[in-house]
Amino acid sequence: MSPRSSAATGSSVNVAESVESVESVVSAESLESAEAPEAAESAEAAEVQEFWRRLGLPGLVDVHTHFMPERVLRKVWDYFDGLGPLTGRVEWPITYRADEDERLAMIREFGVCAFTAMLYPHKPGMAQWLNGWAVDFARRTPDCLHTATLFPEPGVETYVRAAVDSGARVFKAHVQVGAYDPEDQLLDAVWGLLAEAGVPIVMHCGSGPSPGKHTGPGPVAGVLARHPRLRLVVAHMGMPEYEDFLDLAERYGEVRLDTTMAFTDFSEGLAPFPREALRRLADLGGRVLLGTDFPNIPYAYVHQLHALERLGMGDDWLRAVCYENGARLFGIGPCPSGIDPRPSGIDPRPTRGDPVQPGLPSPAHRVAHPSIG
Ligand SMILES: [Zn+2]
Repeated sequence: MSPRSSAATGSSVNVAESVESVESVVSAESLESAEAPEAAESAEAAEVQEFWRRLGLPGLVDVHTHFMPERVLRKVWDYFDGLGPLTGRVEWPITYRADEDERLAMIREFGVCAFTAMLYPHKPGMAQWLNGWAVDFARRTPDCLHTATLFPEPGVETYVRAAVDSGARVFKAHVQVGAYDPEDQLLDAVWGLLAEAGVPIVMHCGSGPSPGKHTGPGPVAGVLARHPRLRLVVAHMGMPEYEDFLDLAERYGEVRLDTTMAFTDFSEGLAPFPREALRRLADLGGRVLLGTDFPNIPYAYVHQLHALERLGMGDDWLRAVCYENGARLFGIGPCPSGIDPRPSGIDPRPTRGDPVQPGLPSPAHRVAHPSIG
């Protein structure tokens, strides 16, 4: 998988052209064009399944995937489309540009037993609406952990409490997009509430891929000093301030890190993870969680898994990161997606009852997507 960053590769790829070419791959035309796209997708699903079956896992737990109201997600994609022309640096073609039911079918076909609906506001007055959508999404998507979000605004404590009471199992905060200070007074009681409830919050608080006024380890260190039991999951391993966030994880036993985009060719080209820090990851093995950013990634899903594998941390570490740590944190029982939990080499057990299991995609749900790199 080659990184799609012209900064990393030094190439002078025409950004507009390449975005266009990616879009053309997922156009209606290509959907109609014979066997290729579906075959490519099934091949990728087989590769993903081969990864966790080899490890003897029942599937994957992915703590960092994005599902949100369709028009919000389209805006996010527009943002990534504009990134190259905007910065003249990074191209970010979305690999899994498809409708929601198609994206759900894909992630289930990969064998992801549990995932999240990371959603986040960029302005006040939006979080509560997003949370309302997320309640409905969780209800109709039992393999998605009910996700909620927040913003420093009057009433935030009330709606966060309501979300926790209604069963939210994970929160998401995006410090760079929201452009707020995690130490904002309006959030102090919220951090206390989440710490007390033991509900994890995945926070994009590192300064990559682009810094914000309040990104970086400083503000988060302030929050943790006041709320040391907060179950903070640092997104993207804290990229690019990896070592500062590792410091925090070593200091606070409830701090975890998600692998989202870290170690991939794409991110290594922009913000390489320091090799000398790998041994610290081994020590933190129980608190590193698989995250991927599906579907908003500029490469194939399986690349994230191979990027973890090639670190050479060993199978125990991979099992912990890709399934066990997340399953323990969220109390995930038997794989609800219906993918057979036994390792490879054993024939799948017969389906229960209906010939088509509810959690599994039918061929009709599969869509074309470019397999980049
Ligand atoms: Zn994300």
